[in-house]
Amino acid sequence: MKKGSKIYEGKAKILFEGPDPDTLVQHFKDDATAFNAEMRDVIEGKGVINNYISEHIMLRLNEIGIPTHFIKRLNMREQLVKRVDIVPIEVVVRNVVAGTLSKRLGIAEGTVLPHPLIEFYYKSDALGDPLVTEDHIMVFGWAIPEELDEMVSLSMRINDFLLGLFYGIGLRLIDFKLEFGRLIEDDMLRLVLADEISPDTCRLWDMNTNEKLDKDRFRLKMGGVKEGYQEVARRLGVLPRMQGKTAERAAEESAEEKE
Ligand code: UDP
Repeated sequence: MKKGSKIYEGKAKILFEGPDPDTLVQHFKDDATAFNAEMRDVIEGKGVINNYISEHIMLRLNEIGIPTHFIKRLNMREQLVKRVDIVPIEVVVRNVVAGTLSKRLGIAEGTVLPHPLIEFYYKSDALGDPLVTEDHIMVFGWAIPEELDEMVSLSMRINDFLLGLFYGIGLRLIDFKLEFGRLIEDDMLRLVLADEISPDTCRLWDMNTNEKLDKDRFRLKMGGVKEGYQEVARRLGVLPRMQGKTAERAAEESAEEKE
């Protein structure tokens, strides 16, 4: 399959035109950034691991009836997705206090919340993705009330499902970020889950040791970032062909196969 021209390059992914007008190719890069790109590095193989983890999660979500943009994985770094119009809101779901919530309110990291907390951030690199309320979203027309209700109810379902999925492999889902997009299907405007779900967008702690196996290893300069992501992939049972190969070599082989 030949992909078209680049239409957008973000911090961790690139989007290309897909084989038809309703699709895009989502390419996972090895670049890691944090604190609104003030901190950056390349973590060799991260893109491959995130591609596999996100594929696995999107497929499982599709199976339980959560609509997503995911169509199929194309190779080790790319997936075919439905073209959507992204809602400019990041939905963060939290089960345990960490990150900016801990800093903003001075509550100890690791405090278990009595019920999941949903937060909204306005997607703007220039403004550093500010926290906003439902009223801001309505007033500025970033989403209509029905879309907001749908985003909240899908986010809660996704949280319940992911809590169980990760619990089953000895991981605590601390928090995660979701993005949604609009598309027209059968003449209907629909909202679907977009972007990715991976250790770049979730906090995952080992159930027994509370060891961090996610992007906080990068943010906090702990080292072993790739190893943390690989451990999540290993527990999920993805990345079967990478044993004994570097992620780069595996990606090259996969690209050669597809040509
Ligand atoms: N998150 C993300 N992208 C962002 C901001 C947050 O994927 O632009 C994820 C982050 O990995 C964590 C959750 O959302 O799992 C909550 O992040 P938080 O608000 O604590 O901010 P951070 O510490 O990531 O700056």
